[in-house]
Amino acid sequence: MKIAEILKKEKLSLSFEVFPPKTQTNFESVKNATQEIAKLSPLFMSVTYGAGGGTSKYTLDIAKNIKEQYGVPTLAHLTCVSSSKETVKERIEAIHNAGVTNIMALRGDIPKELEDADRSHWDYKYAIELIEDIKASGYDFCIGGACYPEIHPESANQKDDIKRLKEKVDAGCDFLTTQMFFDNNLLYSFLYKIREAGITVPVLPGIMPITNANQVARSIKLSGSFMPQRFKSLVDKFGSDPEAMKQAGIAYATDQIIDLYANGITNVHIYSMNKPDVAEKIQANLSDILGK
Ligand code: FAD
Repeated sequence: MKIAEILKKEKLSLSFEVFPPKTQTNFESVKNATQEIAKLSPLFMSVTYGAGGGTSKYTLDIAKNIKEQYGVPTLAHLTCVSSSKETVKERIEAIHNAGVTNIMALRGDIPKELEDADRSHWDYKYAIELIEDIKASGYDFCIGGACYPEIHPESANQKDDIKRLKEKVDAGCDFLTTQMFFDNNLLYSFLYKIREAGITVPVLPGIMPITNANQVARSIKLSGSFMPQRFKSLVDKFGSDPEAMKQAGIAYATDQIIDLYANGITNVHIYSMNKPDVAEKIQANLSDILGK
């Protein structure tokens, strides 16, 4: 089922993101964790894809399993950077053959060892080229793209970033999912600007529940997200007590989600990081709001 279609129902909902196993050895434990999350009957589940190969080969296995076993619509991520046209064509075909109708079309991060490489001969430099190829494949996919309320780290300024985003959406994105953010005002300001720029597709805010202190530095490094003082105080106070930190992080994410719903957002995407207990607690906190 296509995500753009399900979103039209405008019912308050959650979707969850999971990542595939790194090796065959931990395939079963990851599969079990993703199945526990699927039992919560989210609007859909997305499965990430490793940029330079890595965990990518299991993305489709996990997406297919969730869809077939639990009837939850899935979104298979696909990156293109440092891939050849031929590999990408094969992946698109494999996604179609697996019966997955939603693709999150991403450029991917430039692998560290290739940061200074000459990119002029690369088959793909930006996500827009992948979107064009998915469209040209002739398969009828619903396509998602990434967006950055606090601008993409490689962009010179927000105006440029939004201009590129508009081109990407015009190439065929049916919806967008945001990078994580910890201050909802940043999202509201971003939404205002992109609507002004003529981007009208649904935008799913991405919320990362921070459940341990180590995750803070990692997540900020990865996303470049701004940490509000309220969040910093919470980490300072509870960071050394794993259970307390987890509870506080879940409460903070729940607060963010309630505020997003109150301000007109209907679906929130949770970076649930293969943690069924975190996904369950957030959903339980919202049980009356979601009617679940
Ligand atoms: P693009 O849209 O190509 O943008 C990248 C940069 O290039 C931006 O600064 C943009 O403004 C600029 N740009 C775009 N087009 C042009 C152009 N034509 N000319 C000049 N500049 C241009 N990574 C993974 O490896 N696997 C995943 O599964 C994954 N899932 C993600 C899910 C979400 C919701 C998000 C937000 C990110 C995800 N990422 C994932 C990380 C993502 O791959 C990186 O953030 C990457 O650096 C950019 O990908 P993109 O698709 O946004 O790139």
